[in-house]
Amino acid sequence: MVAHGVMFHHFHDDCHAPGQGSIGAGELVAMIESIGRKKILPAHEWLERAGRNMLQADDICLTFDDSLRCQFDIAVPVLRDLNISAFFFVHTLVLSGQLEMLEVYRHFRMTRFRSVEAFYEAFYEVVAKTSNSHRVRQALLRFNPREYLSEYAFYTAADRKFRFVRDEVLGPEAYHAVMQGMVAAHEFDAAAVGRRLWMNSEQIRQLHSEGHVIGLHSHTHPARMKRLSPQQQRDEYYENFRYVRHLTGVAPRAMSHPGNSYSPYTLAILRQLGIRIGFRANMAQQDYCPLELPREDHSNLIARSVPASAVAA
Ligand SMILES: [Zn+2]
Repeated sequence: MVAHGVMFHHFHDDCHAPGQGSIGAGELVAMIESIGRKKILPAHEWLERAGRNMLQADDICLTFDDSLRCQFDIAVPVLRDLNISAFFFVHTLVLSGQLEMLEVYRHFRMTRFRSVEAFYEAFYEVVAKTSNSHRVRQALLRFNPREYLSEYAFYTAADRKFRFVRDEVLGPEAYHAVMQGMVAAHEFDAAAVGRRLWMNSEQIRQLHSEGHVIGLHSHTHPARMKRLSPQQQRDEYYENFRYVRHLTGVAPRAMSHPGNSYSPYTLAILRQLGIRIGFRANMAQQDYCPLELPREDHSNLIARSVPASAVAA
């Protein structure tokens, strides 16, 4: 065991629809119990210890990515009850009312189809009618789901294929074009949905005042940070830094890498900004600096603490 963060994203209840990987308040409580409440350090203390290289092997912290409103509505009351403070890594473009379309499209595929497989089927039908059809077919000939995103055990083969087509073959613009067509065909109101997906500035301020640590997660949440130019990467983190400092009144000192994507240049920018600790999105790396700390996805904890049949249900 090494000191690590536990990574959370989506939560569901009567107001927030369930989706792949989402959990309810009761499951969060059960997970905290199975980790052991005593092992979970207050976020400020974790930051302090990590910065001084004083973490013990079984020190754990809880982390929440992506500025999601469902975290504020569902997870934060649980943390309040149990007197736990956590890291919230926020991308900031959405705080000014703009949409981050990857999250909107996730909501669309989770709520408008019988199952995620039904969405994948509809998605490939649309892709087959575009000028990218041939390129996608060719790329899939050499695609091996066992080798792609293999560090994330919870993805199915179909999930891996979809992410491969989306992120490696189509890329952001072509994916956006396909999804725009699907969203329009379903008369899905992205702007209305977007208003319910993310926290607002006031809620982030409240988290800060309740003792949680607000950290960076880039400004726009690009799918692949390491593919951006040095200038673009710099803009992503400088803008994010300014925004968070303005909201909380303190200079942020922690971050997590959106999409687990970064290059040596990214780490240099974060050092310039005075960021002391950064988190990856998995436990795969053996040798890491303080800006590459490991995190375990919460779904790996479910897999370990409950029988597989219970998860499938
Ligand atoms: Zn993220």
